[in-house]
Amino acid sequence: MLKRYVLILLAAVTGLSVLSAHADYQPVAEPVAGNVYAIVGPLGQRSAGNDGLNANFGFVVTPEGVILIDSGASLLGARKIEAAIDKVTKQPVRWVVNTGSQDHRWLGNDYFAGRGAEVIALARTAATQAEYGAQHMEGMTRFLGKRMQGTRPLPASKAVAGEAATLELGGETLELRHTDAHFPGDAWVWLPKQRVMFSGDLVYVDRLLGVLPWSSVKNGQQAFHAMAALKPARIVPGHGRVCDLAQAQRETGDYYDILVGKVGAAAKDMEPMDATLDRYADLPQFKHLENYGDLHRANMNRAFVEFESQ
Ligand SMILES: [Zn+2]
Repeated sequence: MLKRYVLILLAAVTGLSVLSAHADYQPVAEPVAGNVYAIVGPLGQRSAGNDGLNANFGFVVTPEGVILIDSGASLLGARKIEAAIDKVTKQPVRWVVNTGSQDHRWLGNDYFAGRGAEVIALARTAATQAEYGAQHMEGMTRFLGKRMQGTRPLPASKAVAGEAATLELGGETLELRHTDAHFPGDAWVWLPKQRVMFSGDLVYVDRLLGVLPWSSVKNGQQAFHAMAALKPARIVPGHGRVCDLAQAQRETGDYYDILVGKVGAAAKDMEPMDATLDRYADLPQFKHLENYGDLHRANMNRAFVEFESQ
């Protein structure tokens, strides 16, 4: 009896300490180049403790205000991003530019819009945000519970037509270009002056990229090659630490090449799926990446299906 009581007490105490340790997650800005900063989120899953900030964000400080790249997954997450910016500059966020439509890229838009920022994205990104908004709110509420309260999904209000756009503010140039890899309408933000690439969910390092039912590895491979041709000096990936092109190539580019060049090619040749997935089940060059065990086979499966229908 006493033993059971102690066990319950122990569970309660450790449970509490885990909760409070995680609830303390505060994003921190790190310099990437000159006036460009990255906020590198944890690699794990969304949680109440990290307020869904398990992705990367970034910002550029200009004399006319801050340009924020992606706004976090909730009202509270957006506030935490704002606090991280506040430690670097007292300039307000003038622009929010969204690289995608996955929850943590844009559910903080409403908060920054309420603080006077203009929210900008390619029209195709904004359209996907509107399409997935309700679903993402539901999903995030499952992960974050009460901490989602007050969050309102606000698709980018300045939707820029076309596949690419050049934006200028305070002497800084941003080039938005669609990638359509992880989610339809995904885009990158390229800073030509600093040669810094905010890849959005086109690039993952430190963890294996995820292929979702609506992802396109074909688009991913094409966009990756286009990104490599720009020869970025630094890449702020969608997930994982800030890296150079060589690391992005090893941990993402080479993986797209296998998903398209091997798995996709087998699907096009109408080879059986199971045998194909078995053949490429063991890829030692990616095994050090987090989530490899959980995601690799499902990724191959989706790549196969994408090419099967072509
Ligand atoms: Zn992501």
